[in-house]
Amino acid sequence: MMNHRPPEDDAQAYRDALVDEIRAQARETAFWTGRDCFDERVLNAIAQVPRHAFIPEPLTLNQAYANHPQPIGFGQTISQPYIVALMTDLLNLHNNERVLEIGAGCGYQSAVLAQLGCEVYAVERLEPLADLARLTLAKLGYERVTVKCADGAKGWAEHAPFDGILVTACQDGPIPKALIEQLNPEGRMVIPLGPKWGPQMLHLGQKDAAGQFTHEPVLPVSFVPLVSRPESG
Ligand code: SAH
Repeated sequence: MMNHRPPEDDAQAYRDALVDEIRAQARETAFWTGRDCFDERVLNAIAQVPRHAFIPEPLTLNQAYANHPQPIGFGQTISQPYIVALMTDLLNLHNNERVLEIGAGCGYQSAVLAQLGCEVYAVERLEPLADLARLTLAKLGYERVTVKCADGAKGWAEHAPFDGILVTACQDGPIPKALIEQLNPEGRMVIPLGPKWGPQMLHLGQKDAAGQFTHEPVLPVSFVPLVSRPESG
């Protein structure tokens, strides 16, 4: 396989095809999610973010724009595009929200949020991935994403409160208190819950105007675990 970046024109056709697949999968999963189509702005963002730039080479455009997760090294993955679209859609973003992402990985989900106009704070536990995410996002000009290497279960108090919190690693246990505390009233949180090898459920959490937090299951999913020290919870 040749080790070079594919031309951007070709990539657009793959991205458009991927968006069609996400539309189809949104219809197929409507029974679970209660939404048979996603916000056009979210799909538009997916159509614009060069996913291939976030995946280590060598890769083909076919692999980069396939609707499934891919390995990115260090035992971690870049999320499935449909899941990125669903999680973003569930946050109900309009423009300019401040969003916290836990589990930045290679930075793809952060880029989708930034493409939507959000100010993004992304936390990644593994230093080489945090560095890679920072580098790729900077190269692509996503200036409104700030990445730090830390335990995301503690949130990011200096930049709180957040209008949206998106966790892309699975929490085995109750939702970390810090994350609930750092969510704005009327803010939303999307987080997978469940054991590493057992059934996992994506949950949608919401804080009402009075600050009361509740959450409900949305869809069975499969994520890498949120690795956190117990005192973080
Ligand atoms: N959001 C990524 C998916 C990353 S996979 C995307 O756009 O494709 C989940 C990531 O969560 C991994 O990189 C893993 O290292 C990270 N992670 C696991 N536990 C964490 C924790 N406690 N704090 C921050 N990141 C964590």
